[in-house]
Amino acid sequence: MTSHHLRHHHHHEGHALERIGWLRAAVLGANDGILSTASLIVGVASASTGAREMMVAGAAGLVAGSLSMAAGEYVSVSSQADLEHADLTRERNELRDDPDGELKELTHIYIKRGLEPALAVEVAEQLTAHDALGAHARDELGISEITAARPVQAALTSAATFSSGAAIPLLAALALPQNAVAPGVVAASLILLGILGALGARVGGAGMLRPTLRVLVWGAFAMAVTAGVGHLFGSVV
Ligand SMILES: [Zn+2]
Repeated sequence: MTSHHLRHHHHHEGHALERIGWLRAAVLGANDGILSTASLIVGVASASTGAREMMVAGAAGLVAGSLSMAAGEYVSVSSQADLEHADLTRERNELRDDPDGELKELTHIYIKRGLEPALAVEVAEQLTAHDALGAHARDELGISEITAARPVQAALTSAATFSSGAAIPLLAALALPQNAVAPGVVAASLILLGILGALGARVGGAGMLRPTLRVLVWGAFAMAVTAGVGHLFGSVV
């Protein structure tokens, strides 16, 4: 991502969808769905309750997870949109009240980025003449059209990617006989997590081995922990 202005910390936190690209965000959402639902199913299966309880837990996990992802995303992206809106309003007022100061500010930004002063003045003047607010939004505030926040879209995307991920362990649990559910769900989930990890790494342009191994190790760890907790409660209750 391009450099963002230090004054505006909230843009750095941003939000996954616009900052790392929708495909990687979709992969992350699906990862969450797979891992949390598989862990739930494995945990309940390890408590050695019936198949019905396990499916109810898995389905409830899918719905609850999708809704909470959607709500969280909506809140986070809405507040980002509010902040961007407030920033743009203030910038518009500054441009109206102090155009010379704003031109100096923009020039200074370009000098700090490495342009020679004379060239920076020229760039700032031309961009100001072309679209002053656009230039300040982009180069001072770090708001581009691509990062313009869309809360509803982000919420729906999160819910959709999470639930499509969550559907995999749930379907695996449905298809498998009771005694094969835990190992089957773990295997199906790890295979899918591995594929998604490799895909995400490829899209991000990084090497594929390390991210894939990382997601597999942490995925296995999460399922092992919930299986352990399931065993513990299953034997106590
Ligand atoms: Zn400005």
